[in-house]
Order: sequence, then structure tokens, then C-alpha cells
Amino acid sequence: AAEEGFDIEDVEGAIEEVGHGPLPVLAVIGRPNVGKSTLVNRIIGRREAVVEDRPGVTRDRVTYEAEWAGRRFKLVDTGGWEQDVLGIDASVAAQAEYAIEAADAVVFVVDATVGATDTDEAVVRLLRKAGKPVVLCANKVDGPSGEADATALWALGLGEPHPVSALHGRGTGDMLDAVLDALPEAPEQTFGTAIGGPRRIALIGRPNVGKSSLLNKVANEDRVVVNELAGTTRDPVDELIELGGVTWKFVDTAGIRKRVHLQQGADYYASLRTAAAVEKAEVAVILIDASESISVQDQRIVTMAVEAGRAIVVAYNKWDTLDEERRYYLEREIETELAQVAWAPRVNVSAATGRHMEKLVPAIETAIEGWETRVPTGRLNAFLGEIVASHPHPVRGGKQPRILFGTQAGTKPPRFVFFASGFIEAGYRRFLERRLREEFGFEGTPIHISVRVRE
Ligand code: GDP
Ligand code: GDP
Repeated sequence: AAEEGFDIEDVEGAIEEVGHGPLPVLAVIGRPNVGKSTLVNRIIGRREAVVEDRPGVTRDRVTYEAEWAGRRFKLVDTGGWEQDVLGIDASVAAQAEYAIEAADAVVFVVDATVGATDTDEAVVRLLRKAGKPVVLCANKVDGPSGEADATALWALGLGEPHPVSALHGRGTGDMLDAVLDALPEAPEQTFGTAIGGPRRIALIGRPNVGKSSLLNKVANEDRVVVNELAGTTRDPVDELIELGGVTWKFVDTAGIRKRVHLQQGADYYASLRTAAAVEKAEVAVILIDASESISVQDQRIVTMAVEAGRAIVVAYNKWDTLDEERRYYLEREIETELAQVAWAPRVNVSAATGRHMEKLVPAIETAIEGWETRVPTGRLNAFLGEIVASHPHPVRGGKQPRILFGTQAGTKPPRFVFFASGFIEAGYRRFLERRLREEFGFEGTPIHISVRVRE
């Protein structure tokens, strides 16, 4: 590919950068006000995870991409959590549980100026049980005089406490080095050991769309009790369910069950749980309540699955309740509100009557197929050559930027790198994506296109 100014190292570098598989997941957990959001801000280097002194602020953005020393990972921020009816211990435990479940490694933040509290001890027990690698962050060590506070946290039995000032940046570099040591190169639970194992499905959607009903229906038994509040026994987290002669793993089914503590902070928990499930899955089956208007919350869930790069199926549930008029408006809403997943296979189901349940598996299989598709470089470039000839980029400032060469750097989801002779406008990028989809399918999968411009 040493054509038109790109040498092979440019190409290889770009492929390596873009073609990375799914990223390992780091969760930042701890009590409220220990500085989790401040730390997340510091790590991602932006002011995106808004720090609020005011409690009870609901945020639904819970995952971020981060990079340290050339390694990329996903960061799960649990800072948007609010205390609920069950009190602080139960809330922190629930929050930590979701986050730990989704993570490959955990940063446990403790306020060193306060020292270890009973709640911190309770989280330590959860961490022990989960067995995930833990980096202990002794936060609010703003200067040398605070070091002794950090040392006291050896008592938690989690190994070396890393003295950090999330606010000023002190010690965060050393702590992140320890994080990289703890974090696997690739997400283990998602794509390592399970290769060749059952496919992992996350059944997601806002409360009351019918997730537990659908799970019941496909499991063909009352495995998940609809509307029941969680009892004292621990719910199963992942369930193996046979569908269409194939065994699938439905991840995070415990999260599908309604919980007492979901009464408050429900939106935030729901987002965290959804993010956790999506991280663990290959396929997201997004449930939409067809009897109601498509909401912003539905769209956020869709965005979460798209951004996570999962294979996606959209299931419109409660189809049994639809009359002619609602069906008409639903189609209009889908066109306008869910355009971002217009490429996803769609099924119109009823968890209540069992309508079209048999269409779910073929839709999932289609989505996985798109997600794993690899286009050979020769075919891709023949296709690009045709497009560039028939639909060239508009001339800008007397120049015509051209796509010179492209390659698919990765799959799951498909990622492309295109090399260009000038800046490629957003409209033309969208056009390229559309044409790629027309040509090669990619049904049910997001695709990433990154464009490198020759200097
Ligand atoms: P979260 O609830 O755990 O996400 O905590 P926040 O990140 O919202 O921080 C809670 C409060 O502690 C805020 O007022 C922060 O400015 C403050 N804070 C966070 N990190 C530090 C730190 O390293 N040193 C000091 N002195 N204050 C901090
Ligand atoms: P979840 O919160 O997403 O798990 O939703 P649930 O499974 O608890 O369902 C919420 C409510 O919708 C319950 O009252 C269900 O009986 C009802 N429901 C679920 N699926 C259907 C369906 O396909 N048709 C109808 N008519 N009702 C449904």
C-alpha cells in the first residue's frame, strides 16, 4: 500500500490503532463523595463526567474511553449514584455489584482523610467474593502530610494503597501504572475464555418494556418472576437458555429482575445495569414498548449499545396491544427516532402471547453475522475505486479530496481505515457508510470508519 504518500508503516500503525478488539473494562467504585467522578475526569482528561457537590444528580452517561501509556480501556464511572431507601450500605453494595460484574479490574476509591468506614469494609467483602483484580486508591492525599492516612489503608487487606489526589493529579500516574498491570490486554470475560462458548445476549430496555416477561417466554418457564421484588437469595447472573437448538447465554439476568432499591435512583441504576450487561455481551437485544411513544430513554439505551459496538437486534414488544392507528404512528416514530439503528434487524413480538418468538433467533444470528463480517482488502478497494469514480467527493477550495486506499482493520464490530488525500466531509463519510452497507450487508452491526489524511 505504498501508494500516494502512505508507507506501509502508516498503514500498519493505523490498523493497529483502529483495529483493536473490544477494550478491557475498568470500574471506579466507592462511597459517595470519595472523589470517584473527580478521578474519572482526571483519567479521561476531560470535564465530561460532571462533578456535582449536590447529591441526587442523575446521569446516564456511565462509560468512557480512556487511554494511559498507550493502552486503551473503558472506564465505568459509578459516581452518579444516589443513596436510596435502603440506606447507604445497600446502595453502595448494589452499585459496586453491577460495576464489578461488568469490569475486568476495579479501582476502589477510599477517602484517606476519613479512613476506612464500615461501608468500605462491606465493599471489600464484595470485592473479595468477586475475585477481580483491585487497585486501592487512597484519595484526597493532596500533599506529603496525607501519606500516613494512605498507609493506614493497608488494613483493608487489598494490598498497597496508592496515595492519590484526584483533584490535583498527584499520584494518579503511579496508580494508573498499577491499573495497567491489573488490567488484561483484552476483556477476559467477554472475549477471552468464552471463545467457542455460548453467545452472550444482553436483553436491555427501559423499565416495563417487558424484559422479564420476554426472558420468561424464551426460557419457557417462570425462571424470572415478573414484578417480584428481590428476595434474600442471590439471583443467578447469567442464564443458559436453549433457543432454536442452540444454547445462548443471557447475561446479567439478575439485573432484569426488579429490585427494591430501584425505587429511587432508578434511572441511574438502570443505566449502570444496562452498561454492565452490554459490556458482557456480544449481542444486545433492545426491547422497545411498541404500545408507547419511543422515548429519549429508549434512544439512550440504543446509543449505549451502538457506542459499545455490539451486534444489535431491535424487538418491538407488546405487539398484541397495537391497533391500526398506533401501528401507523409507530412506523413514523421508528423512522425519525431510531434512525441510528435503521440497519438493525427488527422483530415485532409479544412476550404475552408468544407472537413471533421464533423470529428472534434468526434476527440474532443475522446481527452476529454482520458483526463478524470481514471484507477482503482487494474487494474493498475495488469497491472504493468504483465509488470514487462514480461519486467523487465535492471539490473544496479548488481541491478534490480522494479516498486512496482502505482496509478493514478489525471485526466485532467491523472497523475500517480509509486513507485520503484531503479532509473527507461528514456527509461523504455517511455516504460511504451507506454504500458499504448496501454492498456488504453489515445488518445488525455498527461499523466504524476512520479516515487518515496524508499530510
Ligand atoms: P464521588 O461522589 O465519589 O464521585 O465524588 P466527587 O468526585 O464528586 O468528589 C466529591 C468531593 O470531593 C468534591 O467536592 C471534590 O472536589 C472533592 N475531591 C475529590 N477528589 C479530591 C482530592 O483528591 N482532594 C481533595 N481535597 N478533594 C477532593
Ligand atoms: P421489565 O421491567 O422490562 O422486565 O418488564 P416486565 O416483564 O416486568 O413487564 C412489564 C409489564 O408489561 C408487565 O405487567 C407485563 O405483564 C407487561 N407485558 C410484558 N410483555 C407484554 C406483552 O407482550 N404484551 C402485553 N400486553 N403486556 C406485556
